[in-house]
Amino acid sequence: MYDVIIIGAGVAGCASARELSRYKVNACVLEREEDVCCGTSKANSAIVHAGYDAAEGSLMAKLNVEGNQMMPELSKELDFPFKQCGSFVVCLDEEALPDLQALYERGVKNGVRDLEVITDKARIHEMEPNLTDEAEGVLYAPTAGIVCPFNLNIALAENAYTNGIDFKFDTEVKNIRKTEGGWALETSQGLYETRYVVNAAGLYADVFHNMVSETKIHITPRRGDYCLLDKSAGNHVSRTIFALPGNTAKACWCPPRFTAI
Ligand SMILES: Cc1cc2nc3c(=O)[nH]c(=O)nc-3n(C[C@H](O)[C@H](O)[C@H](O)COP(=O)(O)OP(=O)(O)OC[C@H]3O[C@@H](n4cnc5c(N)ncnc54)[C@H](O)[C@@H]3O)c2cc1C
Repeated sequence: MYDVIIIGAGVAGCASARELSRYKVNACVLEREEDVCCGTSKANSAIVHAGYDAAEGSLMAKLNVEGNQMMPELSKELDFPFKQCGSFVVCLDEEALPDLQALYERGVKNGVRDLEVITDKARIHEMEPNLTDEAEGVLYAPTAGIVCPFNLNIALAENAYTNGIDFKFDTEVKNIRKTEGGWALETSQGLYETRYVVNAAGLYADVFHNMVSETKIHITPRRGDYCLLDKSAGNHVSRTIFALPGNTAKACWCPPRFTAI
């Protein structure tokens, strides 16, 4: 009988495991794939967001800002690459500058440090010379960064394992039942019993939630396409560049220049 079973070895499950490993807790992570970081955590944009985007007063805003502030120290503790490169939200339309300002104000209310709206075109060009001249203003967030998603996920899992948390791979949780002392989890590898369950099953978290809760939820996943540029384009900009969300979608930076060999 475990004290805690965590379903899912993505970044959320492994971060939970690592946190629990600080305590005298008999805990285990059950993962249906053959390794950690096989779900959404392996295929994201690698951005450690500053925290101006999340709705003001929401738990997401609070955790986003706190998580961002934890990342420099965490990357040193667990030895994974993290670069606090900062980010720009680029506004190409003068009429949309109030939207940029609104994003700034939300960020300040969320507790994001050192945010700045820059409308001085010379300064924008100096900071990002390859940004389009059509940029009317940018929201500069120096606390934003990028992280290697694999190394982050693996580092959390390795630290949790070293500190005594069990990991069972190729183990799919099929059903959860309430028992007298906690929960019984029926899996592809037999029955597991635990006092508590952490549901970190990512896009499938609603399945387990709905097995035990009267309030039903539904997760609607979305798919998209990413264009991955060659490493030779890596220095084209030095910050993460976002377009200000709006009706007009235009390119924010000039196409990279390639040198013919
Ligand atoms: C295109 C894209 C870009 C993104 N960019 C960013 C970004 O730049 N910055 C950012 O912070 N976030 C970003 N995100 C969001 C981020 O990737 C996710 O929020 C995060 O990875 C979710 O982690 P998780 O651990 O909850 O889920 P997952 O990584 O999906 O982990 C869930 C795990 O549960 C396992 N599992 C599921 N069902 C079962 C079962 N029945 N039994 C056992 N195991 C099970 C899965 O195999 C999986 O390993 C992005 C997401 C997408 C899709």
